[in-house]
Amino acid sequence: MSDTAPTIGSGILDPSDARYSGNVSVLVVGGGGCGLTAALSAQQAGAEVLVLERDASTLGTTAMSTGLIPAAGTRLQRERGIDDSAELFAADIVRKTGGQTDPAIALALAEASAATVEWLIDDHAVPLSLVDSFLYPGHSVKRMHGTPNRTGSELMAGLAAAVERRGIDVVTEALVEGVFADPSDGRVRGVRVRRPDQTHEDFACDALVLACCGFGGNAEMVRHYIPEIADATFFGHPGNKGDAIRWGLALGAAVEDIHSYQGHGGLAAGRGIPILWPLIMEGGFQVNVRGERFSNEARGYSEQAVDVVAQPGHVAWDIYDERLHRLMLEFDDYRDAVEARAILRAEDPVSLAALTGIDAAGLTATVESVAALARGEGQDRFGRKFTSKMAPMAARCRIFLPVVARLAVCRARAAQATWRAMACSRRRLSADSRAGLLRDSTTDKEKGPVGSATGPCRVGGVTSAQSSL
Ligand SMILES: Cc1cc2nc3c(=O)[nH]c(=O)nc-3n(C[C@H](O)[C@H](O)[C@H](O)COP(=O)(O)OP(=O)(O)OC[C@H]3O[C@@H](n4cnc5c(N)ncnc54)[C@H](O)[C@@H]3O)c2cc1C
Repeated sequence: MSDTAPTIGSGILDPSDARYSGNVSVLVVGGGGCGLTAALSAQQAGAEVLVLERDASTLGTTAMSTGLIPAAGTRLQRERGIDDSAELFAADIVRKTGGQTDPAIALALAEASAATVEWLIDDHAVPLSLVDSFLYPGHSVKRMHGTPNRTGSELMAGLAAAVERRGIDVVTEALVEGVFADPSDGRVRGVRVRRPDQTHEDFACDALVLACCGFGGNAEMVRHYIPEIADATFFGHPGNKGDAIRWGLALGAAVEDIHSYQGHGGLAAGRGIPILWPLIMEGGFQVNVRGERFSNEARGYSEQAVDVVAQPGHVAWDIYDERLHRLMLEFDDYRDAVEARAILRAEDPVSLAALTGIDAAGLTATVESVAALARGEGQDRFGRKFTSKMAPMAARCRIFLPVVARLAVCRARAAQATWRAMACSRRRLSADSRAGLLRDSTTDKEKGPVGSATGPCRVGGVTSAQSSL
């Protein structure tokens, strides 16, 4: 697409104004997961590499994430007897995105995925293991790989340690403000950096890698490109202002999928803690304040965000049982939610309703109906299949946890301008979904899953919708 976004400014500088203080063969802008991975790869290929990061440390959105990396055909999968392939992974991506993803790009990413994960483990000692406790939404087989506590901060720590071991230079508190490019042919010559004391420094390079993520932290660009979520709460790294997109556009690059974003229907309300989707995929469900389910939660967390936002008060509750509570304790974020008292417990649905303000009759009826579905009795009106899971409701409910709706925006792709790393291409919302997301991003409530185990129920708190690019 062609878009000049006139109010945003280009940041392209004339090389004749540069006063270079150094030259490297590969210069990387952005020290998140993408940038550090690119730096490791370039250095291993023999390049002299310099990473420039605006913050005081290399964290980015990656450190806020769950840090799970999908990869097909890894030896970790084979060790568990999982038969996977790049073709199957690519087909899953295309299906999950409703055919909107470029199949060639999906296949290229899928084909590189296994070697990338094994390279991170073998060459850089990033401690990745297969996440085999749940099937990720949209995946045909288990193919997520994560660090021991399943956190992005752990992933970033592993990458940062690898970068340090390799002796790669990283300059922090180095905000890249502009790119030097020849006016004649657009060839990039270097960048200009602003330091915290407002002084400038120019670096020359043979190749430039733009790994500074998307534009979620730039309200003007969000309103320009995705107006329907402009008022949503942003849950991502605020320092990502869309610089690479601006520079790329100014240099004549094309952009694609720039109106895409990701939502999440499971952010603990008021806590800002993501409640991960294994809770749902393994049998949990969501209800509104009337105690009613309102969608097929298992379609995925992004789709569910739209439905959560549409509920009374923009809130939903996760309902689940002790079995799922124990399963979720694998995840650092969930343990944080427990510590933050985001989860409420009760002995039965009526007690749980009293704790949460959910309608008791509605919740009781829903718990019973899900239990019946889990026994194979009847069809879910939303099309969800509960029989393959130990659906919580079989007995009394045990644990209820509040869930949140969050909106996260995927980075747009700026052809020839940005280097994409992790998982942004995974999904894209339909126009209807986008419209729903926009409506209000402020508050979702929780819901809790139900389970068959005996014991108390827990209920989580309020959720909110957020967005990140
Ligand atoms: C809650 C949450 C959970 C997620 N879970 C997953 C998951 O499990 N798996 C997955 O694949 N994806 C997940 N994602 C998405 C994933 O986090 C992002 O796609 C990924 O982190 C993007 O990596 P990046 O390196 O491109 O960006 P970032 O990690 O944001 O790094 C960009 C860096 O560039 C720096 N920067 C920006 N502009 C400049 C500039 N002008 N000069 C210098 N530096 C600059 C920033 O400070 C930042 O450090 C999740 C996202 C969220 C919010």
